Order: sequence, then structure tokens, then C-alpha cells
Amino acid sequence: MSQAISQPIPTSAAVGTAATLAIETHGLRKEYGGKVAVHDVTIAVPQGEVFGFLGPNGAGKSTTMKMLLGLAFPTAGTAKLLGHPLGAMAAKRRIGFLPEQFRFHEWLRGTEFLDFHGELSGVSRAERRRRIPEVLDLVGLAGRGGDRLRTYSKGMLQRIGLAQALLNDPALIFLDEPTSALDPIGRREVREIIRVLKGRGMTVFLNSHILSEVESVCDRVAIVDRGRVVRYGALDELLRETLDVELLLGAHDDALLRRIAEFGAIESREQGQHDLIRVRVDTLDEIPALVEMIARAGVAIYGVTPHRRSLEDVFLGAVEGGTE
Ligand code: ADP
Repeated sequence: MSQAISQPIPTSAAVGTAATLAIETHGLRKEYGGKVAVHDVTIAVPQGEVFGFLGPNGAGKSTTMKMLLGLAFPTAGTAKLLGHPLGAMAAKRRIGFLPEQFRFHEWLRGTEFLDFHGELSGVSRAERRRRIPEVLDLVGLAGRGGDRLRTYSKGMLQRIGLAQALLNDPALIFLDEPTSALDPIGRREVREIIRVLKGRGMTVFLNSHILSEVESVCDRVAIVDRGRVVRYGALDELLRETLDVELLLGAHDDALLRRIAEFGAIESREQGQHDLIRVRVDTLDEIPALVEMIARAGVAIYGVTPHRRSLEDVFLGAVEGGTE
């Protein structure tokens, strides 16, 4: 079963004042002809943070993003972007978006492509002239703007897509699965660009299912499952919440296992020359008492290794059908 949200429902007070929130949603809901795509999404994204929006396929990530971008109207709920209600031009002007399935006009040169998209999104000619070299530089394509897109690698195409989303110098940028089609080098390049954007004070809303990537760039995450937020919080806190400890023990009886289980769930057990037991404890502070209990029982302790849980562990535990 999916578990309850362990963090408080995000509110302005939980993460800062309303003025510091780039995105704030309350009970956002979307139904398509009676079918619920998004039940209830309440999140708060502080300005200047990289926010990871995670969930299995069909969880409602794209629909939520579409509502925030004004491409789908919520059935219920409210949201503010950069302090403005959904749909306000004042916010739209300061938002960038890189869709997942971006179609590139491969016959265009890099600069022509950017000029075309800039014009479509209302960036003035003078501004385009000034910004195009800047964004090319920002995404590591300085000097390649004169080349046709058909000569670009997948990684370069994704970077020029990012450049397109940055043309209007947005305060908030939405990236929908920006690296799903890239190889590890391309992924690293995009990750580096995300870090640069954050360094410039931009807020990044990252829709991704690549958990290691989210873990390495995001400050805060929401995990959605079946249209509901099942976990939300600062990444550090989510990962600190629980940890596993691996114990390598000498001969013991089943009574010891039961006493160990009182400290936390036994996740795995490998019996070899010694017994390797993985226990989920709440905090590091529980380990000394656990070790003392085992030692008092007269059982030899060959090893005690704490493991911080990965985002993948948290994710699988949070979504329906997960292991927790
Ligand atoms: P995700 O991006 O997390 O994979 P989506 O937001 O695309 O999830 O979809 C959430 C649910 O809503 C899915 O069950 C999907 O089939 C449904 N859905 C999405 N868009 C539409 C639509 N335009 N009409 C009907 N159902 C939709």
C-alpha cells in the first residue's frame, strides 16, 4: 500500500513566505470525461530550487505540468506561478518550457531555430539578437549556431532545446524528461546545465523518472502515484528519514532475529559462513542499542555497516506496488 505523506502537506509557511514560492498548488485536480487523471496535487516549490516531480507512468506528472503551463484547465484546485494565478501573462512571460517529445526542424541552423522559436513566443528582434549568443554559450553550443540541426548529436539537440526554453530569460523553467533519450554523457551535460541555471537563481521544475539524476540535482521532490502526492519534501530529509544497517553476525538463534526485528524491519538475510542481515532503522542513533543488544546475547559481531537509503528505495516504498 502506498503510505501516507510523512511530511506535512506543503504550505507557504512550511517552506517560506508566499513571496518566495515559484510554484504553489492546492488540490489541483484534472478529470477527462469522468476519468480522473490527477486527483489532488498540493505542492510548494521555493524559488531558486530544483524540484523533482517523480512518479510511475500514468501517475499524472504530464497532466500536472500541463495544468501549470496553462495547456490544460484544472477541474478543481488552484495554483500560483511566480506569485500570479494560473494563466496570468505576467507569469507566462517569465516561464520556459522544454517538452519531452520536442520536434526539431532539422533543416534549420541553430541560430535560425532559436530565432524562429523566440519570435513565436514573442521575444523581440533586438532581444533575440542579444540573447541567442548568450543561450548558446550557456548550453555549451557557442560556435555551433551556424550548423544545421541535422548535423547535431542527440545531446546537442537537447541542449539547443534547452537554449530555446531559456531565450526569454525565464525565472522558472519546466523540463519534461529532459534526458530520457540521452546517453550518460548527454545526461551529465544536461545535469551540469541545470546546476548552472540554479546557480543563476532560476527555479527548475524537473519531470523525470531517472531517479539517480533527480537524486543528484534536486533540492526537493514530490512523488506522485495515481494522481496523488504520496511523498513530498526536501531530498535530504526524505533520504535521512530511514536508513538500513547491515549486520554480519556469528551463530545465533531465531529469538535474536525477533529481537532485532523490534528495532526495525528485517529487509534481507543471507546465510553463509556468517549471517548477513539488513535491518531498516529509523535513525543512526538506534544502532548502538541494537549492537549492544546483540553483544549482550553473546553473538559475535563481525560487521556493522550503515547504508543511507537511495531515492530509489524511497520511491519504491512510496508508490503503490512498491516494496514497503
Ligand atoms: P504521467 O505523465 O505521469 O505518465 P499522465 O499525466 O500522462 O501521466 O496521465 C495520467 C492519467 O491520465 C493516465 O491514466 C492517462 O491515461 C490519463 N490521461 C492523460 N491525458 C489524458 C487525456 N487527454 N484524456 C484522457 N485521459 C488522459
